[in-house]
Order: sequence, then structure tokens, then C-alpha cells
Amino acid sequence: MISFNIPVFIGKEQQYIKESIENNQKLCGDGAFTKKCNSWLEKRFNAPKALLTTSCTHALEMAAILANIQPEDEVIAPSYTFVSTVNAFVLRGAKIVFIDIRADTMNMDENLIEDAITKKTKAIVPVHYAGVSCEMDKIMDIAKKHNLYVIEDAAQGVMSTYKGQALGTIGDFGCYSFHETKNYTSGEGGAILVRDKEFIERAEIIREKGTNRSKFLRGQVDKYSWVDMGSSYLPSELNAAYLYAQLEEADKINNNRLASWNLYYDNLKDLYEIGKIELPFIPENCVHNAHMFYIKCKDLEERTKLIEYLKSSGISTAFHYIPLHSSKAGVKYSRFHGVDRYTTVESERLLRLPMYYGLEANKVEYVVKKIKEFYKNN
Ligand SMILES: *Cc1c(COP(=O)(O)O)cnc(C)c1O
Repeated sequence: MISFNIPVFIGKEQQYIKESIENNQKLCGDGAFTKKCNSWLEKRFNAPKALLTTSCTHALEMAAILANIQPEDEVIAPSYTFVSTVNAFVLRGAKIVFIDIRADTMNMDENLIEDAITKKTKAIVPVHYAGVSCEMDKIMDIAKKHNLYVIEDAAQGVMSTYKGQALGTIGDFGCYSFHETKNYTSGEGGAILVRDKEFIERAEIIREKGTNRSKFLRGQVDKYSWVDMGSSYLPSELNAAYLYAQLEEADKINNNRLASWNLYYDNLKDLYEIGKIELPFIPENCVHNAHMFYIKCKDLEERTKLIEYLKSSGISTAFHYIPLHSSKAGVKYSRFHGVDRYTTVESERLLRLPMYYGLEANKVEYVVKKIKEFYKNN
């Protein structure tokens, strides 16, 4: 069986966990390995502040608090995304306003944002699907014009760029995921990136249960106390140690994934050229991280047959999000602004192929061979 995903394991994880137990004698958050991860992210992505969190879900929750989202505020997001993108704002009482996606990148259609803005709009939440950037210049211009926050859901976008800038560092806040399904992992984990220095102190406080403990640990105050709302958003050192081993090897992991991605692309090109399938589109300004390789079938029916065919050939594949606006909670907490021209139909056509660090070339070739066999008969 060819797995859909195998969590990356690079080799030094156990050694670093051992170090955090034996040498550092510190297992709670914000020890040596958390600091190493934070500064690695800051240096690599040119971010004024990066803070590890327990998940991307929690990074998004922190961003919603930092953006001071209040009940009845509106937040614009794509419907084709993971629940956490919007739950973070629903938890603050906001209403979600979904807009349609572009068929080519599956990202929010930047040309539909402005029409969805009302007096209540507070933030735009672009999701960089498959690690391919949204049209950030346009999104940032609109946000500036209407005085809105931009919170990037860059869960899938670690190591991707838009016009040379790292995803997650362009908007006011950027949120990364280190869940085991992502390119770099600590099992569960994430990070928040803060663009403007004025938000750094409050970010540290919210992450530390609403206390100024970070300041205390730096010797800037002589005791710490409750100063704001907050929660426990910092991961254990064990998770940070695991993650750090992978960040150190980020280029190796990235290049390996890109090689698999390119192999899929090159080998499936002829099926695309005869109009049987569609392939991912990478806009010119975007460098992606091979988070995902997907194809698009003709429709839901064909996709269902292809999934079955590949499964019977020992290949695990996966479709993706059920659009949030048509789900039970979506009906309650959101509205869809405009026409759902692409969100539903495109999501029904999309099929993700096996993709993970260390995926062997012969497995990619086998998957391609089976897809071609299927289309010979369909
Ligand atoms: C994975 C993912 C999340 C959630 O990440 P966690 O770290 O599991 O909380 C949020 N948004 C998107 C787009 C994701 O792919």
C-alpha cells in the first residue's frame, strides 16, 4: 500500500528530545529548543517575531484576539478551507463572510473581496492553499484602503514565498502549522508570526495565559501578574526539540518534496494536454513548497471511480475540504457573499495524491501509471 502521508522524520529528533530531558532539564514551554525554533523562523523568513504555538488553530485564535475581533464583526475568508481558519473568529463572536475561490489556485478570489466589505468588516483571512500564495499585493492594497487586518492562514505555506517574501510575513499576522500532515512537524504544533513590533508584547502575553511572564523571564519586571486576556498557547520543549531537528533540515525536506512534485507534474503532463485531467497552477510570483500534489478529475462521479481504482491498486488518495458554508456550523455562523461558482464544483473534482518526505520515485511512477491506466478506459 502506498500511504497518502507519512510524517517526516529526519533523524536527529530523538537526540534533541534527549538533550531537552538530560541537559536542559526543562520540559515546559519557552526553553532552549523553543527559542531556537523561534529564532530560526525569524531569521529564515525575515519576521520581526515568531512564537511557537500548540497548533495553527491556536495561532489563528491568538491572531483573532490580537486583531481585537468583537461580536458582530465580520471576517472575509474562503469557504474552501479547514475549519480552524474561521473557528478562531467565531469563538470571538464574529460572523464569517465567505467569498468564492479562483478555479486555478483554489485560493480566495482577490477580485471578490471588495464587494464583500461592509461597515462591520474587520479582517481578511487568505488561506494559501497547497502552499501556493494568494494574490497578496491586491489583498494588502484592499486591506490598507479599508483599514482591515490581514491574517494569513499559512498552515500549508511554510517555506513558500510571494514575490520573494515568505508566506506568513506579509499580513499583520501569519499562522503556521506543524501538524503531522504538514511539511515540518512536531506531531501537533504551530507558530504565529507578528509583522509589526507594536503587537509583539501583547502576543507574548496572550500566549502566556494573559500574564507578562515573558517579560519576567527576561528580567524586565520583578514579578509577573495577570495583565490581559489569554490562554495557554505555548508548546512543551519536547515538541520544540522534535521540530527543531526538522527546521535545521528544512531545505533538504523542501527539495525532496519538490522533486516528487515535479516528477508527478512532468509525468502527468500528457494526460493534461489531452484534456483528461487538470494540474496545479503556480502563478509567476509564487514559489511553492510542494505541500500537496493534486489533480482535478472531470467531476465528482469520475473522481469517486478513480479513488476506487487507485485504492484497489494499493494507492491511498484523499479529497479535501467540504466547503464550510454548506456545513452545519457554516449555516449558523456564516453567509456566502456572491455566487458559489467554483468553491463547490472545484472541490468535488480535486484529488490529492500521495506526497511526503522520502516518497520514492518508483512509487510516484507507479501512481502515474495507474492513473493513466484508469483514463485509458474512461
Ligand atoms: C492544517 C491546517 C490548519 C490547522 O492546523 P493545526 O496545526 O492542525 O491546528 C489550519 N488551516 C489550514 C489551511 C490547514 O491546512
